[in-house]
Amino acid sequence: MSDRVVVALDVGGTGMKCALVRPDGVAVRTERHPTDASRGPAAVVDTILDVAEGLAGKARADGLTPVAIGVAVPGVVDEARGVAVWSANVGFRDVPLRDLAVRRLGLPTALGHDVRVGGLAEARLGAGRGADHVLFVAIGTGIAAAHVVDGVAAVGAHGAAGEIGHIMVRPDGPRCGCGRPGCLEAVASASAIGRRYAELAGGRPDAPVTAAAVAERAAAGEPLAAQVWRSAVEALADGLATGQALFDVRTIVLGGGLAQAGELLLVPLRAAVHERMTFHREPHLVAAALGDEAGCLGAALLALDTMTATRVLDHQEER
Ligand SMILES: [Zn+2]
Repeated sequence: MSDRVVVALDVGGTGMKCALVRPDGVAVRTERHPTDASRGPAAVVDTILDVAEGLAGKARADGLTPVAIGVAVPGVVDEARGVAVWSANVGFRDVPLRDLAVRRLGLPTALGHDVRVGGLAEARLGAGRGADHVLFVAIGTGIAAAHVVDGVAAVGAHGAAGEIGHIMVRPDGPRCGCGRPGCLEAVASASAIGRRYAELAGGRPDAPVTAAAVAERAAAGEPLAAQVWRSAVEALADGLATGQALFDVRTIVLGGGLAQAGELLLVPLRAAVHERMTFHREPHLVAAALGDEAGCLGAALLALDTMTATRVLDHQEER
């Protein structure tokens, strides 16, 4: 049984992280390929299937047995039907990726949402390990979350659970990409922090400042950076406090680019979340542990979970 592996792909707007993952969550081979989304969705699908087929072949050449395929994509994902419903940065609209993969490779395939499977991996193998109720929050160009209970991530009725980035935190704040003003991700995503600092500093729009640079300047005592960082932390704390009111989790795992600020983020954010707790129990607030491998590992876990569930159902039907 130890030779079983899952072919796992985490497809993003610019690149795909790919791996062969053992059932215990260890990646035995990793690869990266460009997505090149400008070629259009059909070409991206071809690349996904080619890469998956290539990895399955390499597994067999190494004496391993590929047993399933797990694919993670961003946007809105209908996991039950295996359809990438809408994914702006990959260019997908209603792509039946699971069935296409099953047809090409003849292996059971699971399609998942990139942040939800990332949360699955962090909850089971990473920073949330051992906690029964976990909220994983990825903060990068946007903000999205995964609510994982006993190792299973909630998908939602329409495949869109966890959109914590679109909780309104500042009604008079900047307009969000979704069209509404004051969403959390319009105020506190890594992109929003960099943009806000550049605006206030009167810098050139062609020389954007990264959120990491803002954090460092704030730590070095620069007043403007400290003010921008502080207001982002306050907004994040408002969003996380709402998340805690809804889900009452034991651990909140912060991932994505902004979490790389480490203690510069975690220390003030823990204090700001603490201030907002009344009768709610305070969650542990920790940084993600798996880095950018989380999506791939989570896609593999989802594929294994789906196989197990299918086998149980088949078994029940036989009886
Ligand atoms: Zn929004």
